[in-house]
Amino acid sequence: MTPSINTAPTHPANRLGLTYRHEATRLPWTGPIWDVHTHLHDLPAAQRYFEVADLFAVQRVWTMSPLELVDDLSARYGSRLRFIAVPNYLARHLPETFTTDWLKRIEGFAAKGCRVCKFWAAPRGQDLHPALRLDSPTVRQAMRLAKSLGMMLMIHIADPDTWFATHYRDHHRYGTKPEQYETLSHLLDEHHDIPWLAAHMAGNPEHLDQLQALLDRHPNLHIDTSATKWMVRELSKHPYEFRDFCQRNPGRVLFGSDSVADSHNISFDLLASRYWALRTLFETDYQGPSPIDDPDLQLLDPSLPTGTTPTLRGAKFDPATLATVYHGAARQLMNRVDPL
Ligand SMILES: [Zn+2]
Repeated sequence: MTPSINTAPTHPANRLGLTYRHEATRLPWTGPIWDVHTHLHDLPAAQRYFEVADLFAVQRVWTMSPLELVDDLSARYGSRLRFIAVPNYLARHLPETFTTDWLKRIEGFAAKGCRVCKFWAAPRGQDLHPALRLDSPTVRQAMRLAKSLGMMLMIHIADPDTWFATHYRDHHRYGTKPEQYETLSHLLDEHHDIPWLAAHMAGNPEHLDQLQALLDRHPNLHIDTSATKWMVRELSKHPYEFRDFCQRNPGRVLFGSDSVADSHNISFDLLASRYWALRTLFETDYQGPSPIDDPDLQLLDPSLPTGTTPTLRGAKFDPATLATVYHGAARQLMNRVDPL
């Protein structure tokens, strides 16, 4: 598939000058899509987000929104939205935000019907607060609490290989990438009786063989495809291996975008670029530049000019695989924690 020749002004999320509104109508998939990984942070941005979601057939959305916004978002979008419990990142500098306040919030989210509790355990988390380390007593307490309230667990583990080669070069402080998975494996075993969802291909789209081994060891683990720039850059290096991986693990891979909608991220092109790029990767055999700037390329090679984008190579899933990844897996998973 080749995108139409367009003349829209270029933007860091639209280096090809695409008219995303038009391109959305040219993508092959016509069924529903559930996006299990978004961050809707205020009402005006959510409105813009849903304008984009409607164009790209995204019907159901799981969002990591502030607890204070749950009622307003529910009133406006009803059953299209499910909520994922998160700490109050707006108060990230208060000492209790990731300890006592987080525990209270888990109860608050559960009281509003939330059935997914997210733990952000990127290596850089410890720079923000020691309680964000996956081996901290608070994390263990919070996981037990979430489970007792009928929630499944969601995790951000590791980060791109590019970051371990640069930001996380101090392995004494941050650990190596493989070391990130040691604590996770213990926790997956401890809470083997509930489902887990690991964001961003469990932090490892670069090494699908390692990811397969993780899924094989932990039958309760599921993964989402969110973080568009990262996924496009790395999955495009092995698109057919990615397609085979999804076919080999039906129900374990869920579509997610990591779309962030707030006052700084409200541009139509920004939000639309995520769905265009991911859907093009999944549905088509497009081979060409990604429309989205990827600063990680410059991180590795500072001689590259600003605005360098990676090559996007489509994996062209068959319709049955698309149906499973786009909505079947998410329906199945939500039914396990919140049967209708
Ligand atoms: Zn996210």
